Amino acid sequence: MPTVSHFLLNESWSGASTRTGDIFNPATGAATGQVTLASKADVDEVVDVAAAALPAWAATPPARRAMVMFEFRDLLRKHTNELSELLSAEHGKTIPDANGEIARGIEVVEFACGIPQLLKGEYSEAVAVNVDSHTVRQPVGVVAGITPFNFPAMVPLWMYPVAIACGNTFVLKPSERDPTVVLRIAELLAEAGLPAGVLNVVNGDKESVDALLDNPKVEAVSFVGSTPIGHYVYSRGTNSGKRVQALCGAKNHLVVMPDADMDQVTDALIGSAYGSAGERCMAVSVAVPVGERTADRLVAALEPRVRALKVAPYTDPTSELGPVISKQSYNRIHNLIEQGLEQGASLVVDGRDISLQGYEDGYFVGGCLFDNVSTDMSIYKEEIFGPVLSVVRANGYEEAVQMINDHEYGNGAAIFTRDGDAARDFWARARIGMIGVNVPIPVPVAYHSFGGWKRSLFGDHSIHGMEGVRFYTRLKTMTTRWPSGIRTGAEFNFSGGKDV
Ligand code: NAD
Repeated sequence: MPTVSHFLLNESWSGASTRTGDIFNPATGAATGQVTLASKADVDEVVDVAAAALPAWAATPPARRAMVMFEFRDLLRKHTNELSELLSAEHGKTIPDANGEIARGIEVVEFACGIPQLLKGEYSEAVAVNVDSHTVRQPVGVVAGITPFNFPAMVPLWMYPVAIACGNTFVLKPSERDPTVVLRIAELLAEAGLPAGVLNVVNGDKESVDALLDNPKVEAVSFVGSTPIGHYVYSRGTNSGKRVQALCGAKNHLVVMPDADMDQVTDALIGSAYGSAGERCMAVSVAVPVGERTADRLVAALEPRVRALKVAPYTDPTSELGPVISKQSYNRIHNLIEQGLEQGASLVVDGRDISLQGYEDGYFVGGCLFDNVSTDMSIYKEEIFGPVLSVVRANGYEEAVQMINDHEYGNGAAIFTRDGDAARDFWARARIGMIGVNVPIPVPVAYHSFGGWKRSLFGDHSIHGMEGVRFYTRLKTMTTRWPSGIRTGAEFNFSGGKDV
């Protein structure tokens, strides 16, 4: 079985640790490889390399850094099919979905190509007589990225292209469940001309995450993953004085107003709730029809579509959704469905008994649809991260908004309506980071920023776009005086020279 190790100084590196984890093909349940799990000493060695590479890279002109990004972007496009194949084999998502993920990652690289413009500072001439002021943004230093399994290519690409373009060096700790595509992309970045030591990848589990969080040479940490781990990373990282952004779990609602186009709503829900087997932080997992009549029409429209979903491995080009990532995840989803039934929800479509010939040991869950879900049930409160949609009936629009605002998560939400008044009220009042109006998965493009509210994001900055540039840089302000012979004398009045 192949062993996936680390990437250091633009080469594969095995480190000293002998601990390993298994990588599975989720469609068959068979182990297909092993991943080396770094020790603290391995992580510290990688951080030392990133710290050593920092001064030269930070001093490289932004336009030269951008040239590497232009090359990188071309290589990612050229190798998209190869990358999607690697990604799907370990994650299980369909090839079109993997292609889409890589395309969204490439958008961030394109954003990073504009870094000279994005890093432009500000200059004020004559803030006082003979005194000028200017601001610049400088790299923070060594940055660590810790990423989840569900977008093994895109989520790391949310981080390091921007961080590196800003002049930082980077240590990436990807998910140990699907690490192969990450390493191939790192090779492409090296091929694009990135100097050795600027991007390094260390594979591992909690031990390597803790080592990154405790290493004083790591100045900032970007985390994407579940809320309990994100909260832990945020607390431990900020406690040791680091800048941390932690993008976390979600429960995304889609409000269906009585005037919504029901065909459009049904298409939107089928794609956003069941695509990628529901393993997206922007998946819609709760539909909130307003009024009983809307709810009855919605459930009637959804039921046959959910039953007809094509669940198959990614190697089947007709597959609409593949397996979930692991046996543990499969069991967790089944358990939550069981709890939904025990707590009184109606399971309109039960996808649990799916069995695919030749893939009996795969982690497939068929599309599930719950109706009559209430807000005290665990299937409503918890992020299921599987192909399960809950319908929570709301008596009126106000109840729908209240429900969303009361939920602990605040990543995304959408409203489907023809009523501009309702749509405007919705986006103004929802305590949510990303809002869609007749758009079910409102993932911002790369030059805007991605991030939720409440327990979906710890820290002050969203990711990519200008928020990404701000997170990966520190602001510095210079005040300069060139006196040309004028003496001001000693100043005691804090006027900043304005009296001169
Ligand atoms: P996860 O929290 O289990 O893992 C994320 C990272 O943390 C991985 O690199 C993992 O190795 C590491 N980790 C796991 N356990 C740890 C521990 N005890 N101590 C330290 N580090 C640990 O998340 P996942 O299952 O890989 O991904 C799914 C989750 O990610 C979902 O909750 C999803 O909503 C979330 N997610 C959020 C966004 C977003 O932008 N908000 C995007 C994608 C995924």
